[in-house]
Amino acid sequence: MKENAKVNSNYQISKNMRESKIEWTDHTFNHVWGCTKVSAGCKNCYAEVLDNRWKGGHWGPGSTRKAMSEAYWKQPLKWNAAAKKAGVPAKVFCASMADVFEGHPDTLPHLQRLFALIESTPFLIWQLLTKRPENIMQLVPDHWKIQFPANVWIGTSVENQEAADQRIPELAKIPAVVRFLSCEPLLGPIEIGFFGMAPAEWGYGYSMIYQLIHWVIAGGESGHGARPMHPDWVRSIRDQCKAAEIPFLMKQWGEWAEDGGYPVRVGKKLAGRLLDGVEWNQFPK
Ligand code: SF4
Repeated sequence: MKENAKVNSNYQISKNMRESKIEWTDHTFNHVWGCTKVSAGCKNCYAEVLDNRWKGGHWGPGSTRKAMSEAYWKQPLKWNAAAKKAGVPAKVFCASMADVFEGHPDTLPHLQRLFALIESTPFLIWQLLTKRPENIMQLVPDHWKIQFPANVWIGTSVENQEAADQRIPELAKIPAVVRFLSCEPLLGPIEIGFFGMAPAEWGYGYSMIYQLIHWVIAGGESGHGARPMHPDWVRSIRDQCKAAEIPFLMKQWGEWAEDGGYPVRVGKKLAGRLLDGVEWNQFPK
């Protein structure tokens, strides 16, 4: 595996076709807007802040979820056509303004439509990220329960050890070609346990955890009230990935950067995303 200031992969797409500012994707798509906070990583949810800047009212279990327009739903068809023409798949992160597997009743018809859209856009790689991996198998179509479409990467957010212990076992059970972890906002040290054996009930026979996880993203928190990420936490995740040969992407430091081994608040732009002088941009093989 290469360490390089600009490690690329087959999944990179030309810059003029890239719309998202998120370092690990090309486009973002939301089947709905709205969610309910579920764990420590949600405390400063930027999506809720953004929702409140518009009319708001889409957060919490008793709130409605906002449906998206017909024109919006057509955008992925255009991205798919462009990716086909370019001969390079484009990555689509779903959802930045919701949790794709939240399971709120308002979201269910839109979720079914999303699954159909995913199946009709084979030149897009759909990066489905959730803090509720325990809901995934109940919500996907029956034929996905045997094998997810090849253009789906399924991920879970892992902000601290508690989330890792709860969510990695749930993620590992999903029959997808790529399973990934997003350790952002990283709020504490995490021992992923790549060299542990997968328990028999996961159904993989004699497998090690590192054989079941294909990508790890890490990053600090940004925005008002951002909590610091200790440099040693992210270094440890990078080193665990290196040891297990898992592709690693350092998304950002967030508001806090390293100074003398400790986090100091310098602002997101200045903090950047270099870790020990390296821009980590690895993607699944
Ligand atoms: S799961 Fe994601 S979108 Fe939902 S409240 Fe938490 S951070 Fe916000």
